[in-house]
Amino acid sequence: MPRALPSTREMIAQLIASPSVSSTAPESDMGNRGVIDLVADWSESLGFDVEIQPVSDGKFNLIARAGSGSDGLVLSGHTDTVPCDPDLWNSDPWVASERDDRIYGLGSCDMKSFLALALAASRKTDLGKLRQPLTLVATADEESTMNGARLIADNGRKLGRCCVIGEPTGLLPINQHKGCLTLMVRFDGRSGHASDPGLGNSALESMHDFIGRLFVYRERLQRNYNNPAFTIPTPTMNLGHIHGGDSSNRICGSCTLSIDIRFLPGMTVASLRADIDEIAAEVADRFGQTFNSEIIGSGGKAMLTDEASEIAQVLTRLTGKKPSSVAFGTEAPYFNDMQTETIVIGPGSINQAHQPDEYLPLEHIEPTVKMLDDLIAHFCR
Ligand SMILES: [Zn+2]
Repeated sequence: MPRALPSTREMIAQLIASPSVSSTAPESDMGNRGVIDLVADWSESLGFDVEIQPVSDGKFNLIARAGSGSDGLVLSGHTDTVPCDPDLWNSDPWVASERDDRIYGLGSCDMKSFLALALAASRKTDLGKLRQPLTLVATADEESTMNGARLIADNGRKLGRCCVIGEPTGLLPINQHKGCLTLMVRFDGRSGHASDPGLGNSALESMHDFIGRLFVYRERLQRNYNNPAFTIPTPTMNLGHIHGGDSSNRICGSCTLSIDIRFLPGMTVASLRADIDEIAAEVADRFGQTFNSEIIGSGGKAMLTDEASEIAQVLTRLTGKKPSSVAFGTEAPYFNDMQTETIVIGPGSINQAHQPDEYLPLEHIEPTVKMLDDLIAHFCR
């Protein structure tokens, strides 16, 4: 039997108390079943039909639906948090601690509280009488691989016409963000004694040539792509770390470079990767070496939702603010891929996310519930 819905602050406290760190580092990674079960229980108590979707070992998505059809509104949040270092916190990260008109706790703003606030807003509506469906989505692994959102998009079942993802934006509507590609490129030559260049084939020298060509490519990207909606209006490319060789008296046999590209809406992971592979192939060919490239992590896509979309228009009216951009990635592109027009807007600030003493300002709770209730009224009632 589902329990009755606890108070909003009690729900936030229970969600924070259920650890759900996700990380590409296996020693930090945890499952998220505890959070999923809480949201499932509360959703059922309100009359939602709940589906729990296995994503990977110990990882689950939740889709709670009320009403029928493929129209309506989706309210989505991720269940996972980044890892934390409890020694740097002033209170236990897994205990919601209220002080200074804030709720402190891991996931308080990024973004477990939003799940509680979406439930609190849903409680205000008779779910048996919806004109269009209302869907709550809680995803796995947003902070690590985005595998939860990817699975939902791959299943291809449209969950609604519009979607709100409640990442911490200080309750400002966001319609675009950059994408992020992390690529490792390795050149393999041949090691040999340093005294005779003919005894090997230096991967450090091919890498040097490759880096020079990458800088030319970066200039070309920055000439061709510019979007003034972003603080940094061009794509960026950072060469983050490099490793090659083992000793000054040996020719370097292999060399690896890690590249971080933040790209604009309209650019894709596939085309960037193809360009870089083409450059690497030219270098490998010139040096008589081989190369290998590998995408690390999620290869997060860029987001762009039309300002003229209904969800953007409604949120502009409700907040008095036109949609703008953020510097962080979200799951929004996966919903946009399903033709579900998505805006990112939620309580708390990204400045507190991924930080010790992460908090949600109490003053954001009521305005968020009111905004979500207004959206449910507009799209579903
Ligand atoms: Zn987040």
